[in-house]
Amino acid sequence: MKIDDIKTEWLRVPFNPPIADSTHELCFLDLILVEVHAGGLSGLSYMLSFDYAPQLLRGIIDHELKRYVVGCDADQIRAIYEQNLKTTEYIGREGVAMWGTAAIDVALWDLLGKRLGVPAALLFGANRKAVPVYGSGGWLSYSDAQLSDEVSRYLARGFQAVKLKVGGKEDRDVERIRAVRKMIGPDRQLMIDANQGLTLDGALRLTRRIEEYRVAWLEEPFAKDDLESYLRLSAQTEIPLAAGEREFGVAPFRRLVSARAITVVQPDLLRVGGVTGWRLVAGLAESHLLKLAPHFYREHDLHLAAAYPNLIAIESFDWLDPLLQHPFEVKDGLAVVPDRPGFGVAFREEAIREYRIKN
Ligand SMILES: [Mg+2]
Repeated sequence: MKIDDIKTEWLRVPFNPPIADSTHELCFLDLILVEVHAGGLSGLSYMLSFDYAPQLLRGIIDHELKRYVVGCDADQIRAIYEQNLKTTEYIGREGVAMWGTAAIDVALWDLLGKRLGVPAALLFGANRKAVPVYGSGGWLSYSDAQLSDEVSRYLARGFQAVKLKVGGKEDRDVERIRAVRKMIGPDRQLMIDANQGLTLDGALRLTRRIEEYRVAWLEEPFAKDDLESYLRLSAQTEIPLAAGEREFGVAPFRRLVSARAITVVQPDLLRVGGVTGWRLVAGLAESHLLKLAPHFYREHDLHLAAAYPNLIAIESFDWLDPLLQHPFEVKDGLAVVPDRPGFGVAFREEAIREYRIKN
């Protein structure tokens, strides 16, 4: 089945007001939708750009990879992945090139599921029908009332775990963690995410001060390449360290895992190289007895993670809910793998019309 065309769309939804973590302020939720057409069907993926180079992310598909991929056999997913790695080797496979390679890979797996009429999870050898999911957010820009409202909403929807940002003023970080632990009670899971914004001294102090709140993991305490600080912190705290969402391809995960710098491995579906890269990293984590907690791409991670017994939970933000045709449902902390073919993701036509950037 030959690939006939690849189409992209750019959607821009404003965050009003903007939100912030320890290292970014986000004003827009920009998404690049990628549709691979073959045999009268289409496979869909999307890239989460915020406002970071959306046109560049779109352009790697429209102006580069598309000309090599159109005409290829849609069933040769790994061959197309390898070809895209080869094509982009000269400019560097990481960064924008990997986003494009990954988006095509995800769309091809979606297309395969649709063609066979089965959910993507079946293609990966599902280990369970529902996976644990946590409510993510707790932005540093939130007032105390906004933080408490968000946690209440997650609990009301059936979530049994939440994550909040840290890396602001230390006393406030501690107070927010204390307040959220009190709200969710002793038995639900609580995670924290520093978005690479802590110093080693700051992280050592913070982890000492929050021991009693039983944090399930501390995510990205330091710059992603600062292995030394990861190792020194992990030697001095019981709190598991998590990282990986900013790593491109499989090689950096090999370094993180072999250095024993983290215990929770967090592939990002696009940066890691799509379904193909995600599964390589999940297998690496599993074979080293490490835990898995993928980053952001909830609808896709649900199908992928259903195959992996070492999963802790997938991440859910509610931003996409108004844009999607099918609601994301959570019951008793679990999201059920939908039985729609492929990844079962479809954007509402009205949402595409409202938020499309025309150019
Ligand atoms: Mg994170």
